[in-house]
Amino acid sequence: MSGNKIIYKTLEEIELMRKSALLVSKTLAMLAPEIKPGVSPLHLDKLAEAFIRDNGAEPGFLGLYGCPSTLLTSVNDQVVHGLPTERPLESGDIISVDCGTFMNGFYGDHAYTFEVGEVAAATKKLLEVTKECLYLGIAAAKTGNRIGDIGFAIQDHAEKHGYGVVRELVGHGLGRTMHEGPEVPNYGRRGRGKMIKNGLTIAIEPMINMGTHRVRKHSDGWTICTEDGQPSAHFEHDIAVINGKPEILSTFDYIEEALAKQTV
Ligand code: MG
Ligand code: MG
Repeated sequence: MSGNKIIYKTLEEIELMRKSALLVSKTLAMLAPEIKPGVSPLHLDKLAEAFIRDNGAEPGFLGLYGCPSTLLTSVNDQVVHGLPTERPLESGDIISVDCGTFMNGFYGDHAYTFEVGEVAAATKKLLEVTKECLYLGIAAAKTGNRIGDIGFAIQDHAEKHGYGVVRELVGHGLGRTMHEGPEVPNYGRRGRGKMIKNGLTIAIEPMINMGTHRVRKHSDGWTICTEDGQPSAHFEHDIAVINGKPEILSTFDYIEEALAKQTV
């Protein structure tokens, strides 16, 4: 871990980061049609690793802090950091797929929560609101604001819907290392924290629980689960602040195009 130092990027560096981020987007889109009942997260992990290597990059998570996989796959009440297993997905599950890439010296790191088969309306709502939280957080990532404004926007929207905002895990600076400064909490107070400046590159990643915000760590030492067993969603984008405004380096467009094709 490179600690809390904020490393502002040049436009050239941001372009390289965009390539790494977009390869994550493409990897998640490649996985989208594979995510269905009967498929195991471990199978998804193998597909993702091959795809990333075929595209001339390295998996970003594999080996990092001892991570054994390319993907982190968190099912239902698993919040984040789920290790892919052979246990098949079932209709009604949700699976948050978090993926990292490393190429040209820079990391990409983003995540999407997918529905498996037919999902309950209340769960669909959780996914929708978590995604809205992400975009509200991103909109607050502009010069003149501070890091606390991002967390405030996310927390305010989630709590309006009665959801819990995970405290223990946060977004982060991203670049030549996976975790740089600043920490980007999904909760916070307006006008608090570090100033947002041009060249800031961060991963914003709300983790929103249907019930209590409280979480616990699974006995595997990795997987974070909700304390009350209710589902949790996780959406993550990589952004850069350019000309005072947030620019999203990753995209959900490829994923959502792939998902739309399946439903026709
Ligand atoms: Mg991530
Ligand atoms: Mg991240």
